[in-house]
Amino acid sequence: MSEKIPLHKPDISEDEVAAVTAVLRSGWLTTGNECRQFESEFAAFVGAQHAVALNSCTAALHLALEATGCQRGDCVIVPTMTFAATAEVVAYFGAIPVLVDCERDTLTLDVSAAARTLGELHAGRPVGGVVATGRVHAIMPVHYGGQMADVDAVSALAQRYKLHVIEDAAHALPAAVRSANGGWRSVGTTAEQTCFSFYANKTITTGEGGMLVTNDESLAARARRMSLHGLSNDAWNRFRGGGWDYQIISAGFKYNMTDVAAALGRQQLRKAGSLAAARSRIAARYAELLGNVEEVELPTVRSDRQHAWHLYVVRLRLDRLTISRNEFIEELNQRGIGTSVHWRPLHLHPYYQERFSYQPGDLPVADEEWERFISLPVYPSMTDEEIERVARAVRTIAGKHAQSRSVA
Ligand SMILES: *Cc1c(COP(=O)(O)O)cnc(C)c1O
Repeated sequence: MSEKIPLHKPDISEDEVAAVTAVLRSGWLTTGNECRQFESEFAAFVGAQHAVALNSCTAALHLALEATGCQRGDCVIVPTMTFAATAEVVAYFGAIPVLVDCERDTLTLDVSAAARTLGELHAGRPVGGVVATGRVHAIMPVHYGGQMADVDAVSALAQRYKLHVIEDAAHALPAAVRSANGGWRSVGTTAEQTCFSFYANKTITTGEGGMLVTNDESLAARARRMSLHGLSNDAWNRFRGGGWDYQIISAGFKYNMTDVAAALGRQQLRKAGSLAAARSRIAARYAELLGNVEEVELPTVRSDRQHAWHLYVVRLRLDRLTISRNEFIEELNQRGIGTSVHWRPLHLHPYYQERFSYQPGDLPVADEEWERFISLPVYPSMTDEEIERVARAVRTIAGKHAQSRSVA
């Protein structure tokens, strides 16, 4: 049998190996010059003023909420269609993640649903199992799969309700959205703070890592300080002659990126454009090869978005199939094709049900849609032959288990 096609493969060349090796030989391994360079190159890449390199996107999300003063009892609007990280950081504060449904086509935050939820919270009525006792602090759109949420609608809503906006852009480097005036705006410039991930399977990687991006100098300074124990003077400054002394300003965290990781990240960032072009080509090829398979729906891309294609999520038409999504995945697996499901919505997980009384059915679009998801392999080095093998397998399995349709 032919070799397995994984869901993802990182794209690491000799450039990355050389850059990391140089850091290993340099005598300085942790946060230092490589991190500072990576930050300024990353900020320039997205067109933002400040970037803070961290050891994960989860850390970035946590620090972004911390910097805006999230308090116990606050409510924070989070889409149910996201990864664990987006909502768990809210819970870190004793704040309440108020889960909101997604748009049926793009699967990003449904801003009109968020508006209704805010209306209910302000009127003191329960939402799902949540009754707001405190203020609503922030909203955290997620750029599902690499397509940006409707950020203009989010900022209008945020202005009306005086909310901080923290974008979870873990999937979305690079991505963009077209404004009403026709100009494209890069991810990283459309919210007060934006958080990126360099986890091993993300669009660029540092093994583990993340970046917080903002145009607000004081938020960046706060996040930077809190990323390293709340110290007034970090080790790199001290090493460079800033003196040995420091003061502990706050009880901070240990979220700094290492120079080893940053050296890898700088090489990946240089290739971010060509890696994105490769993923786009794969998405376009899937669309050609699967466009006429009736049992499968392909992802929707809005004409005003540039998609990063971190994920290629197809949806099965279960009414036209005699097998379930999980059985479909098992057949793909038997043919050596790696897949995943992004995601079981948060309100269907035990923690959110037990802690915040969410129930199946509370967020109906997510409830219905997620049962149909399959994420197909997308990675820049994927060959035409591999793309065709995946598409052929999807087509064959769909054909084999198609519901025979009787004419009513
Ligand atoms: C991967 C991911 C994260 C977490 O990123 P880490 O760098 O692993 O902390 C957060 N949000 C979303 C949507 C993700 O997919």
